[in-house]
Amino acid sequence: MRRDYTLTDEQEQVRQLARDFAENELRPHTVRWDATGEFHEEVVPLLGELGFMGMLLPPEYDGLGIDMLTYLLALEQISWGDASVAITMSVHNSLPTQMILRFGNDEQKQKWLPPMARGELLGAFALSEAGSGSDAASLSARAERDGEHWVLNGEKLWVSNGSRADVVMVMVRTDRPDDRRGARGIGAFIVPTDTPGYSVGKKEDKTGLRSSETVAISFNDMRLGPDALLADPYKGFLYAMSGLQGGRLGVAAQALGIAEAALDHTVAYARERRQFGRPISSFQAVSFKFAEMYTRVEASRGLLYRAARAWDAGDVDKRLCSMAKLHASETAVWVTSQAVNLFGGYGFMRDYPVEKLFRDAKVTEIYEGTSEIQRVVIAKELFQEQPSG
Ligand SMILES: Cc1cc2nc3c(=O)[nH]c(=O)nc-3n(C[C@H](O)[C@H](O)[C@H](O)COP(=O)(O)OP(=O)(O)OC[C@H]3O[C@@H](n4cnc5c(N)ncnc54)[C@H](O)[C@@H]3O)c2cc1C
Repeated sequence: MRRDYTLTDEQEQVRQLARDFAENELRPHTVRWDATGEFHEEVVPLLGELGFMGMLLPPEYDGLGIDMLTYLLALEQISWGDASVAITMSVHNSLPTQMILRFGNDEQKQKWLPPMARGELLGAFALSEAGSGSDAASLSARAERDGEHWVLNGEKLWVSNGSRADVVMVMVRTDRPDDRRGARGIGAFIVPTDTPGYSVGKKEDKTGLRSSETVAISFNDMRLGPDALLADPYKGFLYAMSGLQGGRLGVAAQALGIAEAALDHTVAYARERRQFGRPISSFQAVSFKFAEMYTRVEASRGLLYRAARAWDAGDVDKRLCSMAKLHASETAVWVTSQAVNLFGGYGFMRDYPVEKLFRDAKVTEIYEGTSEIQRVVIAKELFQEQPSG
C-alpha cells in the first residue's frame, strides 16, 4: 500500500492499522466465510478493541472521535480484506450510532452509545419493506400510542446485521390511518432485539456479501416505552435520511476497497501468468485495461475523499455523497468484471479470489439508494443550483 501524502500522519496510521488487521484477520478467512455464509461473530469484538465500532463517536461515549475521512480510510481497508465485515462495520458506524448521537436525548446516548462504541452491542438499521425500497417514505409498518407506550406492528426486509444485532433503529409510521402525512408521519425507534414481539425471519441466500447476514424482522404487538422514541415522533424519516448521507459514503468506501482488492489480485496474476511465452501484462491490450482500471479506482478515491473532506469541514454535501457512492459502486462492478476476464477461465472458478469480489461488488449499486436514485439526487441538486435563464 502506497503512502498517501495528502493524508495527515494520524490518518495514515489509522489506514495502516486497518490494513494490517485486514491482512492478518480477514484475508485468511474471507474465502471460507463466503463459502459457509456464516457471520464472523468473533470479528465484532476485535473491531471494537481497535475502536472501529465507534469511530465517529466522541470519546465521552467511548468512541474514537475521529473525522469522516479517517473513518472511511479504515473502512476502505477493512473492505479490501472482506466486504461483508465492511458492511457490518459501516451500518453500525454510519446509521444507528450516528442517529442516536445526533438526535437522541442524554439518557439514550448514555445507555446505548458506550457499549456500541466498544463493540459489545451491535446495531442495525431497518427502513426497507417488501413494498417500499427506493420510495422509502411509503413504508407501512406502524406504531400506535397506548398511553405513554408505543405498540409496533409490521415487517422490515433485508436488515443487514439483523439476525445478530442487539439494537435496531426502526422507522415506522406514527401518523394515523385517517391522517397520512407521508415522510412527515414516520418515527424512528431504538429497538432492543430482546423485546417481546420482536422476531427474526429467514436469512436471505445472497449472490455476494454472503457472510453478512441479511434478514427480515417483524414486530407483533411489540410494546416500547417512551425512552425508545428518537426525538420527534414525526421526524424519523428525516433522521434516517440524514444518516443515509454518511451511509452512502460508507458504501463508497466499501466499493473502493473491493475494487482495490480486485486490482491488486489481478496485477499480481498478470505478472505471473504467461501465454505466448510472455507474461500477459506485457500485451498492450492487457496493460491498457489495467491503466483504465487504475484510473477509475483513483477517480473514485478522489471523489470519496473530497466528499469526506467537505463533510469534515462542516459541509454535508448530499450531491457529493451521491456522486461518491455512484462512481465508486459502478467502478467496483466494472473493475471486478474486468478482473474476472483477466484471470481467464480461472476467474470464473471459486478457487480464485476475483469471482467473489465480482459478486460482492454488485450490491454496492443497489443498497443505501440504487445508482438510479443517486442520479436522481445529483440531477435534482444540479438543477436547483443552476436557475434557468
Ligand atoms: C444485501 C442487502 C442489504 C440491505 N440492507 C438493508 C438494511 O440494512 N436496511 C434497510 O433498510 N434496507 C436494506 N437493504 C434494502 C436496500 O436499501 C433496497 O434494496 C434499495 O433501497 C432498493 O429498494 P428495492 O430493492 O425495493 O428496489 P426498488 O425501489 O423497487 O427499485 C427497483 C428498480 O427501480 C428503480 N427505481 C425506483 N425508483 C426509481 C426512480 N424514481 N427513478 C429511477 N429508477 C427508479 C431502481 O433504481 C431499481 O433499479 C438491503 C438490500 C440488500 C440487497
